[in-house]
Amino acid sequence: MNKILLEENEIPRHWYNIQADMPNRPLPPLHPGTKQPIGPEDLAPIFPMGLIKQEVSTEQFIEIPDEVRDIYKLWRPTPMYRAHRLEKLLDTPAKIYYKYEGVSPSGSHKTNTAVAQAYYNKQEGVKKITTETGAGQWGTALSIACNMFDIECEVYMVRISFDQKPYRKAIMNSFNGKVYASPSDRTKAGRDILAQDPNTSGSLGIAISEAIEMAVQDEHTKYALGSVLNHVLMHQTIIGEESLLQMEKAGDFPDIVIAPLGGGSNFAGISFPFLRHNLKDGKKVRCIAVEPASCPKLTKGEFRYDFGDTAGYTPLLPMYTLGHNFRPAAIHAGGLRYHGASVLCSQLLRDGLIEANAIQQLECFEAGITFARTEGIMPAPEATHGIAQAIREANIAKEEGKSKTILFNLCGHGHLDMQAYQDYFDGKLKDHYLTEEDLKSGIKELSDYPAIPN
Ligand SMILES: *Cc1c(COP(=O)(O)O)cnc(C)c1O
Repeated sequence: MNKILLEENEIPRHWYNIQADMPNRPLPPLHPGTKQPIGPEDLAPIFPMGLIKQEVSTEQFIEIPDEVRDIYKLWRPTPMYRAHRLEKLLDTPAKIYYKYEGVSPSGSHKTNTAVAQAYYNKQEGVKKITTETGAGQWGTALSIACNMFDIECEVYMVRISFDQKPYRKAIMNSFNGKVYASPSDRTKAGRDILAQDPNTSGSLGIAISEAIEMAVQDEHTKYALGSVLNHVLMHQTIIGEESLLQMEKAGDFPDIVIAPLGGGSNFAGISFPFLRHNLKDGKKVRCIAVEPASCPKLTKGEFRYDFGDTAGYTPLLPMYTLGHNFRPAAIHAGGLRYHGASVLCSQLLRDGLIEANAIQQLECFEAGITFARTEGIMPAPEATHGIAQAIREANIAKEEGKSKTILFNLCGHGHLDMQAYQDYFDGKLKDHYLTEEDLKSGIKELSDYPAIPN
């Protein structure tokens, strides 16, 4: 069997909310001024109530509205594949499966939450949504979703990706999305950064500040985030819920589940439903989040309160972070250039319930090419991080002479990232080694905000 497919009527009817099952619930978000826990009403200027309720919910399952499930049918259920040809090349006793989210209209998992977020905004009469985008995947997904619900979409795109990936803008424009390179001169946050450093390549943190600043100025405009927040991670659990059914169909169950981690949404999406089986039924699936060695918040960051954005507009979140002023190297995996990890993934890592690993860029691209040559799909540069880890695990299985079942999330295709592959073939990419000073650079400004004792 190469493909493990589900029928449309097998699309799960619920998202999974891991907050119901975590042994330690995350610490609360804090107001940046008072440093007191914020309540749902504090988030109301930027998010619709429907999403705020999901953000704080402790219900185990939340029903997917019929309208959202109907739109999901455009690309879901997504296929799961057994990577026979990759296994053969690696000569490994491991069984390697991957769940392919690149079949969505935007080419990545982001559409799973974009459609849900646009739906809840529409319910509350929102006319316009502002957002940030790194590599362009999230801006594309939200433009498509907003267009379906007749909502305006305004996207702040990190400058380096805006320059590296011009076709992303054309796609967003096709779906009526308006796209601005960030930092821009449209916002105070953007102008302040440009005054300091006119040639900055930008960052997700800066783009988030710009999008929030625009949203708070108008009561009919809200803001949407493509990762990090609890409700975003929850919408992505449709990936893992389908994977559970597909694994059952294949008569198998993973020993290891792997995904790249930028903010944590595709990792959460595939792994949280398996973690439910760890937490509730005594299963022992190893869930491994893979980050770039040039932006290693999980493996080298501090667990502490920090802002989600650069200007400090968001609440303080308890997370593994490199500091909101950390400026990651200009690697091609733009979706992984974020200074922090979602609160849920951070708490799970702190509690030893998931694992994390950091891998350098060249090993990832090499893995991406190996995967493309065996399985025929060009992976997004972000996705190559999961592939590299899967190959490492398959090689360990070979050394140990053990058959293991490995599942990874192929969270997006790389058809709009081919400049990255061209640079790789031209020998222009390099690995990035951070010094202790680099790692501390973004944390320095945080001494006024509460650290979290061990
Ligand atoms: C956005 C993105 C990521 C990183 O974000 P997560 O929230 O960690 O999933 C990874 N891969 C792709 C293809 C993306 O579009």
